[in-house]
Amino acid sequence: MELFYIILYSVLGLVIGSFLNVVIYRVPAGQSIATPRSHCPNCGHFLRSWELIPVLSYLFLKGRCSKCQQKISWRYSVVELLTAMLFILAFFFRPGRTMSGLFLDFIFISLLIALTFIDIDTFRLPDVLVILVAAVGVINALVTKEPVIWQSLLGAVIAGGVFFLISYFYAKGMGFGDVKFVAALGLYLGAPEILAAIFFASLLGAISGGLSLLVNKKSLKDPIPFGPFLAAGALIMFLFQHQLFQFYYSIT
Ligand SMILES: [Zn+2]
Repeated sequence: MELFYIILYSVLGLVIGSFLNVVIYRVPAGQSIATPRSHCPNCGHFLRSWELIPVLSYLFLKGRCSKCQQKISWRYSVVELLTAMLFILAFFFRPGRTMSGLFLDFIFISLLIALTFIDIDTFRLPDVLVILVAAVGVINALVTKEPVIWQSLLGAVIAGGVFFLISYFYAKGMGFGDVKFVAALGLYLGAPEILAAIFFASLLGAISGGLSLLVNKKSLKDPIPFGPFLAAGALIMFLFQHQLFQFYYSIT
């Protein structure tokens, strides 16, 4: 029975991931995500159904457009595989979730993936997607009561408040988009989970900043989008909160 769900959620993840590629590409450009159909950005060739199969089409086409032979970015497949992987992890690591809870988790994961790649590409976190994270956070609290609504609201107020103060007093580097995003994440995770998520986000940000200084000789002034780290920190808490809290209580 478990195998059935693994296959089902993998396929669902790959298909949703394929749709997220469209969102990542079109939402920042202000284009419709419904029309026109998917096409090669180089020659405009409309993709036929066999060219739209997640990951497999990429392998079959050897990473090139079937018409103009322009290279297709391997990132499309990464987004599809990442979505499927996180769906499977949510299925295994969020036990006790009802069907509707798992469905909300899938929407949450999908929005975080879209926001991560859009922030990497454009240094922006589009309001429409951040509002959807907030909405799904409130719906989750009301439907699943994990977290209950007051914890959810508290998470948003604390996280949003802290980030607002940081962006207000040390405005450089942190945009208002991060303030709104972390508040929306707080609604989904609740307090105190969101604070642990911020801790992991900062840790990952510091490690990655240090590494890029060493490897690329980038200067500290080069902007690094913080949204992907917030999304990663949130997902770490989202998936492993039980294990992490158990570990925390075992060492204190
Ligand atoms: Zn082409």
